[in-house]
Amino acid sequence: MAVDKNRLHQLFMSGMLMAGIAKELGIPNASCQSIISKERKKNPEHWPLRKSKRDKAASDSEHFMHLYECTYCVVTFAVEDYEEVDHSQTVCPICHSVEHIEDAGYGYFTKTKEAEKAG
Ligand SMILES: [Zn+2]
Repeated sequence: MAVDKNRLHQLFMSGMLMAGIAKELGIPNASCQSIISKERKKNPEHWPLRKSKRDKAASDSEHFMHLYECTYCVVTFAVEDYEEVDHSQTVCPICHSVEHIEDAGYGYFTKTKEAEKAG
């Protein structure tokens, strides 16, 4: 697969999120991540590590989530999407399969209610 590395670098430096870059280049999220990590190993200063979404300065209630759908269980679930997450490892939380998983988009999830803790 031919990926325009200059374009990738440009998008990366613009601060665009991984999912957005992958979509822009028309490649899967996981490929995008692996290209960046390979390029970073060759030339670390060219590909600075960006602030993780886990950064406490960011809003605690807002999370960038990647949505997946399991066509077998007919459930949609979300996995938090930040650079360190290897989304190629994502499995259905119900049936634990990978083969029924389909990409269902991504976006911001805003928590409006705290989980009620039992006890
Ligand atoms: Zn499933």
